[in-house]
Amino acid sequence: MNTTHAYAAHDATSKLAPFELQRRALRDHDVQMDVLFCGVCHSDLHTARDEWKNTVYPAVPGHEIVGCVTAVGPQVSNYKVGDLVGVGCLVDSCRTCPSCKEGLEQYCEVGFVGTYNGQDRVTGENTYGGYSTAIVVDEAFVLRVPKNLDPAGVAPLLCAGITTYSPLRQWGAGPGKKVGIVGLGGLGHMGVKLAHAMGAHVVLFTTSTSKIEDAKRLGADEVVISRNPDEMAAHANSFDLIVNTVAAPHDLNPFINLLRRDGTMTLVGAPEHDHPSPQVFNLIMKRRRLAGSLIGGIAETQEMLDFCGEHGITSDIEMIPMQKVNEAYERMLKSDVKYRFVIDIDSMRK
Ligand SMILES: [Zn+2]
Ligand SMILES: [Zn+2]
Repeated sequence: MNTTHAYAAHDATSKLAPFELQRRALRDHDVQMDVLFCGVCHSDLHTARDEWKNTVYPAVPGHEIVGCVTAVGPQVSNYKVGDLVGVGCLVDSCRTCPSCKEGLEQYCEVGFVGTYNGQDRVTGENTYGGYSTAIVVDEAFVLRVPKNLDPAGVAPLLCAGITTYSPLRQWGAGPGKKVGIVGLGGLGHMGVKLAHAMGAHVVLFTTSTSKIEDAKRLGADEVVISRNPDEMAAHANSFDLIVNTVAAPHDLNPFINLLRRDGTMTLVGAPEHDHPSPQVFNLIMKRRRLAGSLIGGIAETQEMLDFCGEHGITSDIEMIPMQKVNEAYERMLKSDVKYRFVIDIDSMRK
């Protein structure tokens, strides 16, 4: 057992506060790591505040983890002490259902084990995430971090990166394809970078003119102000794929109208309440598809990290000490971050 310093929410309304927990003794296939950096995802806030009505307290959020291996179990073959590694949203799954067998552990039919607010398959205990100085994870759910990338900027790739990479790959973003990204937040800014690196023609949709320059810097070929009907109309029936990252409920029809025949819009933002149902005929008449996508499996997450290594892609981040996380939550609610907070976990070791 290892005493670990962490920050936890103790109920839905109080601020995150220092907390001590015990990490489990190493099982045969376990990797123990010192957490170096942890990204702040909107899901962390939803969980801390029980907005999805399933939080087990105390809750230690954090599923965008970059760490350094400090010990390994006797059967571990892929990692050794000193390796730079990552952990994303999943730390286990049943490993036997059809989805797990296909490497799509995020769709495990029994339910994957979340990095936090999950239930350990051996002990049934609540899992604690990366707002902590150390974590122990089965090697099958540990990722290798490319050495050429800034490790702090890698942390958000483990959730925001893979959440946008997976649908871009699934629906064939690449040269000759016109890809829209709706929203320029933590997810959207990764979507722009990744779609651009895949060679697609990238159009960023935003409601805010202040984001035009930044979107172009990040790799957008065009920026459309989605509140402007004329700008929207100029792109009617032209998109192969739109990745919609907006988590607030909104009218989907104006975006569906922009899809070409057989085009797909996939939703990746997780709203507290559903979007209004879109018009059926807009889908029928052009065989358009409205889809969803959840993070990515372990193999695809490694593929994404390697892709980012090859293309020199990391998240744009603002680093904070752990002690500022409550403030960061308030700023995140106001979209006052470019584009992801990352916690410097060393701030808890001082
Ligand atoms: Zn996340
Ligand atoms: Zn499974």
